[in-house]
Amino acid sequence: MSDTKTILLANPRGFCAGVSRAIEIVNRVLNKYQGQKIYVLHEVVHNKHVVMDLMSKGVIFVEDINEIPQGSIVVFSAHGVSDDVLVRAKERSLAVFDATCPIVEKVHRKVRKLSELGEEIIMIGHKGHQEVEGTLGQYLNPNGGMYLVTNAQDLSHVQVKDPNKLHFVTQTTLSVDETKQCIDEIKKLYPNIHGPKGPDICYATQNRQSAVKNVAKIADIVLVVGSKNSSNSNRLKEVAIGAGCEAYLIDDYQDLSDDIIEGKNKIAITGGASAPEYLIDDLIEYLINKGYKNIEEIGTSSEKQNFLMPKGL
Ligand code: SF4
Repeated sequence: MSDTKTILLANPRGFCAGVSRAIEIVNRVLNKYQGQKIYVLHEVVHNKHVVMDLMSKGVIFVEDINEIPQGSIVVFSAHGVSDDVLVRAKERSLAVFDATCPIVEKVHRKVRKLSELGEEIIMIGHKGHQEVEGTLGQYLNPNGGMYLVTNAQDLSHVQVKDPNKLHFVTQTTLSVDETKQCIDEIKKLYPNIHGPKGPDICYATQNRQSAVKNVAKIADIVLVVGSKNSSNSNRLKEVAIGAGCEAYLIDDYQDLSDDIIEGKNKIAITGGASAPEYLIDDLIEYLINKGYKNIEEIGTSSEKQNFLMPKGL
């Protein structure tokens, strides 16, 4: 590798299948119901540019289902919703198109089944994140219990009723390494706990973290394109820092200042699963104009995941 000013592109990066599907669902709903108001509950994916683009096409984003008028059309975001939101959508006679990522939906199904059985669950995830709220909201059995922990320290607050009928699930966009450590701690405390072989972290999160870890080892700085509220983008920045590299999370090239890249020969770029590729192209163009003429792809992308559209679209 040369010492000339180089851009290292982490591979894979950017859009995952769940995000592509969610955005496509909103676009198809817009197309199918032209002239009608289309609501989306929460940001369909956590990216400022995606949301602004859909707003410019007329989409109305709301944070509470009660803001949506009776009988309207609504799309649920890729992060999924709680059972309570589904009930309220029915009460308001909303026409629902569900853009919940099928990987999140799989975790929902697991939680609903365990709730019916009255078995307890420890969920590893970030309090307040929409995906976590939606997953916790699948557990309805008052005789069981579902407990949220962010890390092993939180386990001291958990009071399990029956450690032999205990399971764990995880948010899909966590740090792979931190979550493995947390699961190890949980298993020490509850040796009979049931769970998947690995965490529920999705293929896209795992692949992007692995790619950024590799590129961070040879770069002088890592730029992660993604929004501040994007969980998987934040994790990419943390993984890069954990690999010993300076790293920044930026919405687009306009967030970049000259002093950040001053003296850096090798600039690595990755994008969170909700970051459109055109933002990365803009960043590359910006850096080319700053003298970074050499571009290298690091890693290979062999992702073939594809999800079906919901019925009616
Ligand atoms: S990051 Fe993973 S869980 Fe989230 S939408 Fe993409 S594929 Fe689905």
